[in-house]
Amino acid sequence: MAVDHNKKDMDIDNKGEEEQKGKPVMVILVGAPGSGKSTFCERVMGSSLRPWTRICQDTINNGKAGTKPQCLKRAAAALKEGKSVFIDRCNLDKEQRSDFVKLDCGAQVDAHAVVLDLPAKLCISRSIKRTGHEGNLQGGKAAAVVNRMLQKKEMPKLNEGFARIVFCHNENDVEATITAYTALGPLDTLSNGCFGQKNPDAKIQLGIMKFLKKVEAPSSVGSSSDSVQDSAYPQASDANNICCKGTTKDSLLLGAASKEVKESENLAKGSVDADVSVDEITTLAFPSISTADFQFNNETASDIIVEKVEEFVNKLENARLVLVDLSHGSKILSLVRTKAEKRNIDSKKFFTFVGNITQLYSQGGLRCNVIANAANWRLKPGGGGVNAAIFTAAGLALETATKERANSLLPGHAVVVPLPSDSPLYTREGVSHVIHVLGPNMNPQRPNSLNNDYNKGCSILREAYTSLFTGFLSILRSRSKLPRRISEKLALTPLDLKDPSLDPRNHLTNSDQKIKRDDGCVYERSKKCKGANDETVADISAPSSTYGKVTGDKSKLEGPTSKTWGSWAQALYHIAMHPEKHKDELLEVLDDVLVLNDLYPKACKHLLVLARHEGLDGLADVHQEHLQLLMTMHAVGLKWAEKLLHEDSSMVFRLGYHLAPSMRQLHLHVISQDFNSNHLKNKKHWNSFNTAFFRDSVDVIEEIKNHGKATIKDEDFQLSMELRCHRCRSAHPNIPRLKSHISICQAPFPHALLENGHLVLALKT
Ligand code: AMP
Repeated sequence: MAVDHNKKDMDIDNKGEEEQKGKPVMVILVGAPGSGKSTFCERVMGSSLRPWTRICQDTINNGKAGTKPQCLKRAAAALKEGKSVFIDRCNLDKEQRSDFVKLDCGAQVDAHAVVLDLPAKLCISRSIKRTGHEGNLQGGKAAAVVNRMLQKKEMPKLNEGFARIVFCHNENDVEATITAYTALGPLDTLSNGCFGQKNPDAKIQLGIMKFLKKVEAPSSVGSSSDSVQDSAYPQASDANNICCKGTTKDSLLLGAASKEVKESENLAKGSVDADVSVDEITTLAFPSISTADFQFNNETASDIIVEKVEEFVNKLENARLVLVDLSHGSKILSLVRTKAEKRNIDSKKFFTFVGNITQLYSQGGLRCNVIANAANWRLKPGGGGVNAAIFTAAGLALETATKERANSLLPGHAVVVPLPSDSPLYTREGVSHVIHVLGPNMNPQRPNSLNNDYNKGCSILREAYTSLFTGFLSILRSRSKLPRRISEKLALTPLDLKDPSLDPRNHLTNSDQKIKRDDGCVYERSKKCKGANDETVADISAPSSTYGKVTGDKSKLEGPTSKTWGSWAQALYHIAMHPEKHKDELLEVLDDVLVLNDLYPKACKHLLVLARHEGLDGLADVHQEHLQLLMTMHAVGLKWAEKLLHEDSSMVFRLGYHLAPSMRQLHLHVISQDFNSNHLKNKKHWNSFNTAFFRDSVDVIEEIKNHGKATIKDEDFQLSMELRCHRCRSAHPNIPRLKSHISICQAPFPHALLENGHLVLALKT
């Protein structure tokens, strides 16, 4: 078949013998076991017009594993015969590659590298699962080997002697590259340069690329039909990178290559500063909220979008916001674009983009780590538009993850959902979080229509964008403040710990990667000092002089509120910072919060929802930007209360914070109202949960929303108030008498508690 093809071309033009033969190419695959190297070769060789030889060290010795020199010899022989070769080994470091690149086979050969830089987890899971692997790297041992190899990986560079390097970060990249090599006829060449690289060196390498020949692409080819940048996003239209000598499969080649060009160009032009390339910029893509199905007026909505973007854009540091819509004719996009321009909003930080929000990277080359969903109040898939598209694209994983966070959403609110790594949106598009937002509804055909009440509608739409952008800020903050992210579950591979950049959730800016946690202290349960085991000092029962303060303890530590914390008061902080060391104590581990049983429960059921953010010792440190975190803590607390109610529907729960906590690290108490516990021993214990010293979570959230901070009055005196029943308010002389009263008191809870969601109780059937 290859011969026929050559002959045909020879008939067509009269070029010299040398050129007619075309140049063989040596493609050095670079990738961990399980990254798909052999499959790549098989797929290309299965339908290529070019003669290929696959050199695999696992089989080079008559079907058995051999040596590198054997591979080199076989490669040289194949190239000499005019065959192109795949070097199917891991080739993860420069040294491994260099002998092949320098290989002298007496023929003119271009060396290419195809880097299969797929998520480590994927490679590991593929290696573990496979059977009958040529090199017998499969099953349990595979994980450790892959892990070890990846730690030493060194990405190839053009200056190693490569003419062309292609980086594939996901299945779509791999597909495009397979297509490009499959379509490479004997006389075709692929252009030189470096494509799809993520690290900052890309710009230097792109510099080389720009000197190379560029051929104008036909306008119909390569530009993805439904995904085009709309305004400030850099265009990649100027050139197509393929140099075609042969006559076959031009359009296929052009199509595949144009995507590469687009990505490469975007990397170069889209950089916001010298060190950060586009892929490393955390980006929130969001649809216009409420303007489609909920029929909110476009003109008014665009004013609100621009107003809110303007308010938040400067808080984003290196991150950016992108308003997305499906069609070029989108009215809301053009209104917003014009208004944003008028207000001089930095177009690097905010721009509009035409494309499908579920395919921004694969179709549009725009990497968005976070996408917003215009959700329905039940947070369920279905309906139409963005909600249906996102739930469909993300698969069941999103539904499950959403349920873990919340069951419903009020208009004006948002909920941040970390996307599990098995979601296709995560693996294909690099989306790490979905933020569900519910806007106001003006459509009488849909539930809860506001009947054209634009006063209310505007205020809800403003709240919706505030919640959305605050949620995004909280993701940014948790990324920069949390200790190195270790996967949302505690089932960690050592790789996760060592190289968080392999996880799309951790595609942080360079500076994030540099962040080192400096604990300043190592907490130990010292026998000498009264430790957290001793509940008289570890919680509210500590004498007021030591309450949250240190008395003569040398290991004093300061938190952000410059309050000094004794070593015994650091237990929760240490759990929050090092959950991996506390697996057995934790009921749930999420990106932003942990859930655990209170070690000294003051009621039958007493849980703590612990914030993982560094720098939040207590309520006093909480500000507007933590609103989303507080809402997450509340939602998680509520979920656990509901779970416990399922087991015992007679229980009643209250969720709240202590005004002046005894333990460092923001934590929400989820406590059943029976107060039936031996750990509840004194007045302070009782009053800390039954006076204004206990701040209901719902109230705190409202305060943060309205005033940007919680009211922290000095309520210490509350702890020494007389003992009163929390239901009938009767007074009791001491704890035993109070306890015996509350065990029988059936009075309804006071109105103030029954209203506004202060109590969580089972619905009467
Ligand atoms: P606060 O007074 O709001 O700081 O509440 C601190 C809570 O943490 C108290 O209810 C203690 O019983 C609880 N506590 C103290 N040490 C631990 C620990 N190591 N693990 C879990 N809960 C703890």
